Amino acid sequence: MLDFLGTRQRSHNCGQLRAADAGQTVTLMGWVNRRRDHGSLIFLDVRDRYGITQAVLDKDLAPEGHAKAESARPEYVVCAIGKVRLRGPESVNPKMPTGEIEIAATELLILNDAKLAPFSPAEEAIANEEVRLKYRYLDLRRPEMQRNFEIRHKVALAVREYLNAQNFFEIETPFMTRSTPEGARDYLVPSRVHPGHFYALPQSPQLFKQILMISGLDRYFQIARCFRDEDLRADRQPEFTQIDLEMTFPQQEDIFRVVEGFLKASYEVIGEQIATPFPRMTYDDAIRSYGIDKPDLRLPPMTDVRDQFTTEELASLKIEPRLPIIAIVIPNRSAMSNTQKKAFAGEMNAAAAPDLAYLDVERLAGSPLYAALAQRIDAAAAMHCGLERVEPEHRLVVLSPRVGITAPAKDHLWLYKKAGQLRLDLAKRFEADHKAFEKKGNADDYKFLWVTDFPFFEWDEAGRTWTFAHHPFTSPHEDDLVAGRMTSDPEAVRALAYDIVLNGMELGSGSIRIHRQDVQQQIFRALGMSDEEAKERFGFFLEALQYGTPPHGGIALGLDRLVMILAGAQSLREVIAFPKTAKAIDLMVDAPTPVSDQQLKELHIRPVLKG
Ligand code: ASP
Repeated sequence: MLDFLGTRQRSHNCGQLRAADAGQTVTLMGWVNRRRDHGSLIFLDVRDRYGITQAVLDKDLAPEGHAKAESARPEYVVCAIGKVRLRGPESVNPKMPTGEIEIAATELLILNDAKLAPFSPAEEAIANEEVRLKYRYLDLRRPEMQRNFEIRHKVALAVREYLNAQNFFEIETPFMTRSTPEGARDYLVPSRVHPGHFYALPQSPQLFKQILMISGLDRYFQIARCFRDEDLRADRQPEFTQIDLEMTFPQQEDIFRVVEGFLKASYEVIGEQIATPFPRMTYDDAIRSYGIDKPDLRLPPMTDVRDQFTTEELASLKIEPRLPIIAIVIPNRSAMSNTQKKAFAGEMNAAAAPDLAYLDVERLAGSPLYAALAQRIDAAAAMHCGLERVEPEHRLVVLSPRVGITAPAKDHLWLYKKAGQLRLDLAKRFEADHKAFEKKGNADDYKFLWVTDFPFFEWDEAGRTWTFAHHPFTSPHEDDLVAGRMTSDPEAVRALAYDIVLNGMELGSGSIRIHRQDVQQQIFRALGMSDEEAKERFGFFLEALQYGTPPHGGIALGLDRLVMILAGAQSLREVIAFPKTAKAIDLMVDAPTPVSDQQLKELHIRPVLKG
């Protein structure tokens, strides 16, 4: 028989009471975390968001309550009323904040029962993720999950407070809108009233935030939900949350400062300090030094050691003289046996093929002909990486381009990118040796970086056209516009676009926008879009641009990812209350589902199902 709540109210939560509260009569409510039956004494651990408090039901003291406690099971919802008393020294639990006290309950109410749960929130062992997602309400009861959402809440609040203090207004933009291009597929919402017409869910509030700048609102932000129907990838969510902002009359540096400010405030939520300003690096330098546009600075950069080779050495080692020779240092790798070295060399050669070859510096060092070269390579790489010297355990991997290389020689970026990928693979593989990815509790834990000066255009091999690298509202560098490079040398045009990177992860990206209609039109044309098409897709925006648009720019950072990092969680799903699986399914509500014929009819939709 369940009890009614009546007019009872909690006097304290389950994480609150301490030794100093002994003697008080209290009313606690919560879930039965664990129950231990010692015959005439039954112990109930009562849990809520704030913690766990032990209630004791003594058959002599509270026979009725004791009888109810006998029937209580895990996850029953109970109300325990009684006196706070100090535990005996032998039963103090130093691991629990409430471990010095217990409630000598005189009354116990069973407010609700619970079916035997498929897994217990009290267990340390974590159930299979599908089961957790199906029974998300049980999963969210686990203290780790409650902590994740506490962090999420506090980070969002810290961001809001910081931006508020910087004069930003939080403004909502519509969910039902028209398609804006962020490079993904739209989720569509059919219109009942306008047959055959659809709204699109926003991939981001991009055009709205720009229009808010045209509207004179000066500084906008929103903790904004974005929807992108992207191909399934492990750590992607079809809907995710961005810290989205836009400013009027900014220089890039103004935007950087704002982001650094709210990131600092976010880290303070977990009691950590980060150093600002973050370093800046151009895209070109990032590629040349790290082979990637989101460098992980926790490991040393790559070194071009071509200058260490004489012409004769290049020729005798069959190295293409016009291309860079890239040295990768992975510090503190454990020593290898000769057999391991041989296997490693084979693997490196295979990874470098077909255009690059693995140059074994250790073998060079052992040969009278090349010992001096090996020394020069070591010294150059060491200096570049800020090491005193390259010890064998800082093992060097050198990739040299083969003579007769087939890949294009004009643009060396492919070569840096390939070496960069190998650097990352090796870093991952020797993680246990170099320990650079382990948290140390110092400034090296969080390597933030601004990457700037992205190329404006990307060559799309499939469509054989230039496409935008960020999005088509990004401004090119004014110098490149003035020099006419949009048409004469599109590849060389730099975008006023920037990414914020942390430990090799992209946290967000943004840009200074185009504020002139003529430039916007020129960009659309350069992207192969006819004036008619541009008008059809973005007419409203091109129109708005003509009514006194101020220079403006902004950025968006993924809130989910930021919280994941701050909470030390392993996946985005740990910090999103009701996430979808990698197959875009919500296992708890079981969505998506077919809908009734009647609903489809109202929406003027006839499904064409493939067999
Ligand atoms: N709308 C862009 C994005 O979602 C961010 C920006 O340019 O502000 O990536």
